[in-house]
Amino acid sequence: MLPYTPGEQPAPGKTVKLNTNENPYPPNPTVVAAIQNAATGALNRYPDPVATAFRRAAAEALGLPGPEWILAGNGSDEILTILVRGFVGENQKLRLPYPSYILYRTLADIQGATWEQVAFEDGWKLPAAFGNTPDDVRLVFLPNPNSPSGTVLSLEEVESLAAQMTCPLVVDEAYADFSGANCIDLVKKHENILVTRTLSKSYGLAGLRFGFLIAQPHVVSELAKIKDSYNCDMLSIAAATAAISDKTWLGDVVAKMNATRDRMTDRLTQMGFDVTPSYANFVWCTHPSGQHHAMYEFLKNNQILVRYMQFPDWGDGLRISVGTDDQIDALFMLLESHLKNL
Ligand SMILES: *Cc1c(COP(=O)(O)O)cnc(C)c1O
Repeated sequence: MLPYTPGEQPAPGKTVKLNTNENPYPPNPTVVAAIQNAATGALNRYPDPVATAFRRAAAEALGLPGPEWILAGNGSDEILTILVRGFVGENQKLRLPYPSYILYRTLADIQGATWEQVAFEDGWKLPAAFGNTPDDVRLVFLPNPNSPSGTVLSLEEVESLAAQMTCPLVVDEAYADFSGANCIDLVKKHENILVTRTLSKSYGLAGLRFGFLIAQPHVVSELAKIKDSYNCDMLSIAAATAAISDKTWLGDVVAKMNATRDRMTDRLTQMGFDVTPSYANFVWCTHPSGQHHAMYEFLKNNQILVRYMQFPDWGDGLRISVGTDDQIDALFMLLESHLKNL
């Protein structure tokens, strides 16, 4: 099988990382304190197998009736694994939009399942056929906001696609905190709408590995049967509980990053890029010169990593994560000098 290739992780140092949509800002100090506190506790004991403290805090923060609506995981990637393992058997299929998050395909490969892609139409809309699932399609993934585009489908569109489906629809909300909308209310109404979340992006905790599922309680309790018994460790449960409880910190960092994102959109557009309006913490852009790979190389040689992405039968471009304002200014300067020499 083909391996999934994550974005490059250079040794810590001078490199400006704008390639994997991490948060450029350090996490909430209360999270670091919670880890330190947990580390002086009972590390000789196994952690709570179902992360009850986190699930209570998350239910409270997200306006859910209770912890039974949440399943905690070792990163949302683990939640995605559990979903594929639970719903898609050998020789059955999962469906995903194209281009979107390639990891879903790898997860299908691991299960001996297959996958099919439905291409986005102009304007990053999905055809109605996306919701039309034959019997062998057992799970549909929809990143919303999507990566690499940063675009969103409205709640009405998500709801009407799910209504047509004969299988669960997983709305991967890794970037929903940046978009100002989410599908949690749809989960309350429809048992076949499932939402996944991560603390890696908006909460600035990619190094921690913590994500979770929001689904109706009977779905959560079935999926809990197939997770590893102690899938989340004591330090990450303590950290995630502190993180999810502080909505003020989240609101502040999201506002700051969204302002930088809008500045990136404006400036890159002025430079001649075609920038897709983004609802996430990154922008997708293409340039009429088509020199995307050369730009990626040039930036990398100058210690700025962005993501060059190439999708067969579709095209290529650059996905650039929101950094600090200083990092983004350095990016603008380099790109401007490069474009002058084209
Ligand atoms: C980053 C990302 C994830 C992975 O999140 P982790 O919690 O770090 O595993 C999942 N889905 C999408 C679309 C992402 O971009």
